[in-house]
Amino acid sequence: MKAVLIHAFNVRPELVTVPDPAAPDDGVVVQVGATGVCRSDWHGWVGHDPDITLPHVPGHELAGTVVAVGREIRKWKVGDRVTVPFVSGCGRCHECQSGHQQVCDRQFQPGFTHWGSFAEYVALHHAEQNLVALPDDLDFVTAASLGCRFATSFRAVVHQGRVRAGEWVAVHGCGGVGLSAIMIAKALGAGVVAVDIDETKLGLARQLGADILIDSRATPDVAGAVRDSTGGGVHVSLDALGHPETCANSIENLRTRGRHVQVGLLLAEQRRPPIPMDRVIARELELYGSHGMPAHAYPEMLGMIRRGALQPERLLGQRVSLEESIDVLVNMNRFQERGVTVIDRFV
Ligand SMILES: [Zn+2]
Ligand SMILES: [Zn+2]
Repeated sequence: MKAVLIHAFNVRPELVTVPDPAAPDDGVVVQVGATGVCRSDWHGWVGHDPDITLPHVPGHELAGTVVAVGREIRKWKVGDRVTVPFVSGCGRCHECQSGHQQVCDRQFQPGFTHWGSFAEYVALHHAEQNLVALPDDLDFVTAASLGCRFATSFRAVVHQGRVRAGEWVAVHGCGGVGLSAIMIAKALGAGVVAVDIDETKLGLARQLGADILIDSRATPDVAGAVRDSTGGGVHVSLDALGHPETCANSIENLRTRGRHVQVGLLLAEQRRPPIPMDRVIARELELYGSHGMPAHAYPEMLGMIRRGALQPERLLGQRVSLEESIDVLVNMNRFQERGVTVIDRFV
């Protein structure tokens, strides 16, 4: 099969031909119909992810068709249209047994712990519990875009942030994660404050229903501006970028007893940001992490998509070929992403 192969960190990957994967006993092989290109793939390529061993094939936001099943698989068959959370739980550890497969102790992550979906085919372990059946009317490109950003935002807003109608939500960073969060918070009936440094992204935030836009480059005190414009602060705030500054702003713009959700990854030298813990104590703030979403939570999200309450296709950016994805990947840190880039051509 054709695959994008990373031979060395920070060295341009190559499109190569490698052997087709075989189905593991507890897994399946999926013919990739579409796969998203994500900042996490860039982090992996430059060497920020300790799970990756070389040579490596990136890609974790996939949708496609099952073409082979392992001998332990009962629920799935050849021809099934599926997607999979970027964290697949082992099914046996305490977290999996408690329904928290997204923080499994022995997680399988395509594109990180194993070869991923920047390829014609991908082998998926622990498939019995982790595959998600796609509705017939949901195309592969849209399904791939649910990948990690939309699903992670869904969990962050709905399950961790527990956003309710009438509440204020601040979203710091309006990339794929942030724009998804804005759409989801609006669908729940919340008011949304969108914060970014980029006018185009703030324009997209407005189109998705954001009520208040804050250009953080033109605003010396972002947290103060959010508090002033929402009558004392937001109920729920997300750092959707993953940066010490957006993390601190997200905590400082909360109203008393507000909830901060850290969705953006903090890696390398930024992984231990200063937290305004004085404010956390004095105002009884709640801090949460959000790390993907388990397969059993997908029907709730897919149901909102089928009802038209959520329209993830509005977040799609460019569609590229497997070969073109290499340029997108290596330039990811230099150019601001505008919507979700999806690979939909593999030969
Ligand atoms: Zn587990
Ligand atoms: Zn991703």
